[in-house]
Amino acid sequence: MGFRDFPFVAREDDKDRDPRRFPGHREVLMHLKEFMKEFGVEKLVRFETEVVYVGMVKSSDNFNKWKVRSKKRSGDEVDEIFDAVVVCVGHYTEPRVADIPVLRGSSASSIDICRDIAGVAREVHVALKASAEMEVSFSTMKVSSLPTSFFTTGYKFHFPILDTNGIVTVHENRVGPLYKHVFPPALAPRLSFVGLPKGKHQICFDRHQPEFQSKWMAGILSDRIQLPSEEDMTEDINAFYSTLEVYGA
Ligand SMILES: Cc1cc2nc3c(=O)[nH]c(=O)nc-3n(C[C@H](O)[C@H](O)[C@H](O)COP(=O)(O)OP(=O)(O)OC[C@H]3O[C@@H](n4cnc5c(N)ncnc54)[C@H](O)[C@@H]3O)c2cc1C
Repeated sequence: MGFRDFPFVAREDDKDRDPRRFPGHREVLMHLKEFMKEFGVEKLVRFETEVVYVGMVKSSDNFNKWKVRSKKRSGDEVDEIFDAVVVCVGHYTEPRVADIPVLRGSSASSIDICRDIAGVAREVHVALKASAEMEVSFSTMKVSSLPTSFFTTGYKFHFPILDTNGIVTVHENRVGPLYKHVFPPALAPRLSFVGLPKGKHQICFDRHQPEFQSKWMAGILSDRIQLPSEEDMTEDINAFYSTLEVYGA
């Protein structure tokens, strides 16, 4: 992790810091706090505030604007109108539940977990979708006989607060249509998504992907960069989907 102009580097010189390659949560939090201080981000963040609804409204200049309803921890709700909305709510809240009895999961998190527990567990079984042999042997094993089971089957894209009148949908865990995974052509540039990974089963980004997406989106919203026409964006998306089909993705 880290930002190109604010890298996450080991602080060997400070005894209060955790210089390990895989540091603890505290070190990550301290880095994020330092980043916020360096760039004055904190005053832009509303803490303890949940966005409960985002929907389109027609404004007098005939451009779509967005109504955003947010709720404070006290329960107080407020409606506000914004020119543009950037959706960056993450994608690890709605779990993809395994189809028992065949437990599946073999991506980054399951490898992390296996490494962590291998030294203390009596046995560790991993069920891989890719290996038919293992899948069969796992399905014949009684799941109830296993003392502990971890489901590392990933998450679903899920945007329950966002109402786009059906323009943006999630179909087979694909959010679309999105030009370069960021802008829905019909609503660009007033709606964008930052942080959607490219691969269907990918947990980690290319390290700087969300940063590049954010800078591109900011350039477009501030009129420094022009997006192609709606038709050209749609054509690009269709070409991308065709490529996925060719590769069976
Ligand atoms: C178990 C696990 C292990 C991982 N390990 C790694 C790793 O080793 N390396 C790596 O690079 N990545 C790892 N990842 C992935 C990494 O955590 C994500 O890619 C990254 O956090 C995504 O950042 P984000 O800002 O898009 O979303 P998030 O970090 O999920 O941030 C989204 C934020 O939006 C807030 N939010 C959501 N909905 C609302 C709402 N309605 N109103 C207000 N706020 C809202 C959430 O509270 C959250 O703070 C891991 C993920 C998991 C689940």
